[in-house]
Amino acid sequence: MLITFDLDDTLICWQPAIPKEHITLPWYLWWFKYEPLRKGTIHTFTTLRAEGWKIGIYTTSNRSEHYIERLFKIHGLKLDLIVNQYHHEKIIKKHRIPDKPSKFPCSVGSYLHVDDSLGVQMEGEKHLFRVLVIDPLDQYWSEKILEEARKVAEIVRKNSYEVVAA
Ligand SMILES: [Mg+2]
Repeated sequence: MLITFDLDDTLICWQPAIPKEHITLPWYLWWFKYEPLRKGTIHTFTTLRAEGWKIGIYTTSNRSEHYIERLFKIHGLKLDLIVNQYHHEKIIKKHRIPDKPSKFPCSVGSYLHVDDSLGVQMEGEKHLFRVLVIDPLDQYWSEKILEEARKVAEIVRKNSYEVVAA
């Protein structure tokens, strides 16, 4: 089962009040200008993996897949899938979605998408994909994601939830 995450204001938060994951880059990566990941990302991803989830990023930013992969890799985190704006536009064209939602995570097999945007949640209601909205300032964000992921896993176990993967 795949869970997808938004990047901006969900996992990458620039607000000074939001704690960041600390890392020390090895000398051969000092050139790499990376953005900080929100504190709790490592715990959330590690727990989700241990519970059998695959993890993907679904962002409408233009960051390259290579950069995103590396950003998580330096924190020891592996991603199973990356959808950026470029990839998303191809998905929308392929599926010929009439009103062009800004995200369409069900098309890549995502059972749960995590985002800070209420607009994405509304799109999810319309296009039938599940969205958990997390406020960037919510200090219990990780627990909420894990709780929701367990709820979804339980629904899937009962065979009453399906996604249409492309
Ligand atoms: Mg966002």
